[in-house]
Amino acid sequence: MPPPIPVPRFDQFYRYPELTRLLQDYAAALPAVLELRSIGKSHEGRDIWLMVVTNSATGADVDKPAFWVDGNIHAAELTASTACLYWLHHVATGWDEGDEQVRQLLDTRVLYIVPRLNPDGAELALADKPRHIRSSTRPYPFDEVPVEGLTVEDIDGDGRMLTMRIPDPHGTYKKCAADPRLMVAREPGEFGGEYYRVMPEGMLKNYDGLKISTNPDREGLDLNRNFPAYWRQEFEQSGAGPYPTSEPEVRAMVDFVTKHRNIGAAISYHTHSGVILRPMGTQSDDDMTPEDLWQYKRFSDLGAKSTGYPAISIFHEFKYHPKQGTGSTNTWARCSGRSRSGRRTRKPASPTTSGSSGTASTRWKTTSSC
Ligand SMILES: [Zn+2]
Repeated sequence: MPPPIPVPRFDQFYRYPELTRLLQDYAAALPAVLELRSIGKSHEGRDIWLMVVTNSATGADVDKPAFWVDGNIHAAELTASTACLYWLHHVATGWDEGDEQVRQLLDTRVLYIVPRLNPDGAELALADKPRHIRSSTRPYPFDEVPVEGLTVEDIDGDGRMLTMRIPDPHGTYKKCAADPRLMVAREPGEFGGEYYRVMPEGMLKNYDGLKISTNPDREGLDLNRNFPAYWRQEFEQSGAGPYPTSEPEVRAMVDFVTKHRNIGAAISYHTHSGVILRPMGTQSDDDMTPEDLWQYKRFSDLGAKSTGYPAISIFHEFKYHPKQGTGSTNTWARCSGRSRSGRRTRKPASPTTSGSSGTASTRWKTTSSC
């Protein structure tokens, strides 16, 4: 008799060895529907786990229409991992309890779930002396340790990197009247008060007695800018890496997806913004194929209804700068789907047919990316 289905904890984040054990326990508990695979190694050599979720008795995963789910490409966005585990737990227990919807889903479809696409960055965020970098732990664009300036660090060892305030008559901040723990901006033309400079907690090297500049993280990559669609060089898109798919985590995902033409839709989980982002990141809605746009809107609206988060276009409502267009998982997945749908060789599978081959023409739908 297989071991019981594990019950994940949703009040804590898993470090890598515990996450690995949890995923292995799921696969051991339900071998008929769960298979754990590694799609590649991270920069530091950790396996990137992918859970294949389908009823193996009704056919191989590659012969069924598939949905891709990933989370935690950004290092400190650990809740994205938890969201993937919630999905996994929902379908695992639903299958076990005979939930009709889940049974029908796993009889006829496959889910590819990658709870932690960037295990190195997440591990640093969860370390005993944590750091919250953007993405990969690989130093980029420079290997060297900075020789001067302030490097952000947990100096007092309390596990947090806070902001320091230093009294200065020329400071640009003042205490908030409602709560003096908060700093608010000094108004233009304002004089005569108590003002402060603020800077992050960290170690200052080679101080010249005058100027303090804060060093950017040595780990300057953003894996979500390393995808091979609308990729831009570093000066146009920060963290993009030396070339598309230069980073092993992104390479592993792109390799897997391009070799699995049964994948027809995808979602990438992030945190921070509380929105559902839909394509395009680089193009106006007016320039999109209308049929695509209508489908994205339809599915995004369903997501908005069930989560309460607004569903928005990256291009129109989420750009960090009006002149910026970002290539990301979202944009790549959409472009990849269009190239797949342009090379139809087989008939699409019927939505209710199990074990049927031929889902290559399914067009990708993607949501969520930042
Ligand atoms: Zn993110």
